[in-house]
Amino acid sequence: MNVDRILPTDEAHDLLDLATELADRELAGRAAEFEQRAEFPREVLRTLGRAGLLGLPYAEEHGGAAQPYEVYLQVLEILASRWLAVAEAVSVHTLSCYPVAQFGTVAQRKLLPDMIGGELLGAYCLSEPQGGSDAAALTTKAVRDGDDYVVSGTKAWITHARVADFYNIFCRTGGPGARGISCLLADRNTPGIAPQAAERTMGLHASPVAQIAFDEARVPADRLIGGEGMGFTIAMSALDSGRLGIAACAVGLAQAALDYAVGYARERQQFGRSIIDFQGLGFGLADAATQISAARALVLAAARLRDAGRPYSIEAAKAKLFATDVAMRVTTDAVQVLGGAGYVADHPVERYMREAKVLQIVEGTNQIQRLVISRALAKG
Ligand SMILES: Cc1cc2nc3c(=O)[nH]c(=O)nc-3n(C[C@H](O)[C@H](O)[C@H](O)COP(=O)(O)OP(=O)(O)OC[C@H]3O[C@@H](n4cnc5c(N)ncnc54)[C@H](O)[C@@H]3O)c2cc1C
Repeated sequence: MNVDRILPTDEAHDLLDLATELADRELAGRAAEFEQRAEFPREVLRTLGRAGLLGLPYAEEHGGAAQPYEVYLQVLEILASRWLAVAEAVSVHTLSCYPVAQFGTVAQRKLLPDMIGGELLGAYCLSEPQGGSDAAALTTKAVRDGDDYVVSGTKAWITHARVADFYNIFCRTGGPGARGISCLLADRNTPGIAPQAAERTMGLHASPVAQIAFDEARVPADRLIGGEGMGFTIAMSALDSGRLGIAACAVGLAQAALDYAVGYARERQQFGRSIIDFQGLGFGLADAATQISAARALVLAAARLRDAGRPYSIEAAKAKLFATDVAMRVTTDAVQVLGGAGYVADHPVERYMREAKVLQIVEGTNQIQRLVISRALAKG
């Protein structure tokens, strides 16, 4: 469906046109095959990088496009409607550039043009086998030794673990709790950093996740981002932005599922008429369309707060919670609309449904989003 959008500039219209053209040409036709082969589409990401779509929200002096977040998120939505794994990769990469872009030294920021341009792909290493939701309890350790930090521990569920060129490592340099955490930027080829075998996931096969083992990996001390003890603040600040990316991906995925279901329901005949003409089915599609519009509006409202320099983390949590729950519901209902055909891989809706699930889990589960929102309500 063509979404009627109010965009801030003509440049934003051009960017969305470019994103649509690239999504149709580079993503749509490849998704099913790459997902089946579980092959990461590194070249597709390079193409997006060369087109300037990997650095949209970052400053021009760092190789970005200085676009408002609301524009970046709508580009992400379009990419997700053609292939979620690529949109999620763009979102995670953008998140991985955030610590250096926002908190890095002048010297560290010299790395940004290659990062933002997509020559170097990033990973964001926060979760651990024993600690996902309770990130402040992380145990990966970094001990200062001369000009280096020596990092030991294990990270879990890391997107791009096996294909990234740089890692943001959130690690403990001090005592227990959030204040003992720091953020290091490590190169892929650092001895002692060993990505493990890819996990066998329910969906997003083209964007594998894996554990990373750190065995006395030496990371130069000048790769400490933002000072010792700043890591948790950096991680949470990055996640506020990242959650909006995941929410935008959810809107795109839900829209793709709805569009497919509507197309099928208009064509499919039962009892001598198109199944969309049965009120029991058509009303469900109407609800889905309404929920997607509401999710998009929530995502853009939070993004506009961010663009205006206003606090937005609670609104980002609401947007992530609502949009990803909508994506789960709409993709599940889309399978139902197709009947038996919805259950087989000849149609993309069963894949959409498997992919939607992960959006309710990553970058803070939806229970954690509820925790963020309810704590704010309790505080008043
Ligand atoms: C495909 C995929 C990609 C990922 N990519 C990354 C990545 O790139 N980088 C990264 O750092 N991590 C990544 N993750 C990890 C992800 O962020 C975590 O899985 C998530 O934060 C949940 O942590 P957990 O799996 O340890 O679950 P747990 O924290 O063990 O939670 C288990 C259950 O308990 C619930 N729960 C926990 N605490 C509370 C509470 N206080 N109140 C109510 N319910 C609660 C949770 O909501 C969940 O339902 C990825 C995960 C997946 C599956």
